[in-house]
Amino acid sequence: VIVLVDLDGVVCDLEGAFWPLFLEKCPDAPRIAPESRETFYVEDQIGQEWREHVEGIIHSEFFFLNLPAMESALEGVLRLSESHSVVICTSPVTTPWCASEKYQWVESHLGLQYAKKMIVTKDKTLIRGDVLIDDRPFPENKGLLLPSWKHVLYDQPYNRQIDKPRTTWKEILSGEAKMSTFTSK
Ligand SMILES: [Mg+2]
Repeated sequence: VIVLVDLDGVVCDLEGAFWPLFLEKCPDAPRIAPESRETFYVEDQIGQEWREHVEGIIHSEFFFLNLPAMESALEGVLRLSESHSVVICTSPVTTPWCASEKYQWVESHLGLQYAKKMIVTKDKTLIRGDVLIDDRPFPENKGLLLPSWKHVLYDQPYNRQIDKPRTTWKEILSGEAKMSTFTSK
């Protein structure tokens, strides 16, 4: 089974890094606790008037390089790799540094072999695979093709309203989540 694994919100803790930086820069902005996050994009919940400030953080140099790993994510990727072909598949923001920082991040946290195989694309439907683990509610929506992969949501508070198969690293590490069951559905 070829398992495509998204980075942000799945392996990298984008929001965990974002909020302290954002609230330091914008102390008057709404504070949303992680469990109360309801939309994929922060500005869709706190208001478009904050969008420029949100992007100011996410588009800044070293933001992606310095993201912490999600809890259990690195162990989870290694565990999945014991029985599957795991390929990191990530969409960068359009800045001069995001994509290269993602390569550096993957090399330093997972190893050079994962960085070498990593696919950086704005359209994941162009990439073949059996399963895509991704926190974005509909990664197939913006694509040119019908995806070959089965989308499995990485469980996050902001995607809980979506009715799709979902998983977590905890579930994968416990052996409860079997990739073969996702592909057969
Ligand atoms: Mg993501």
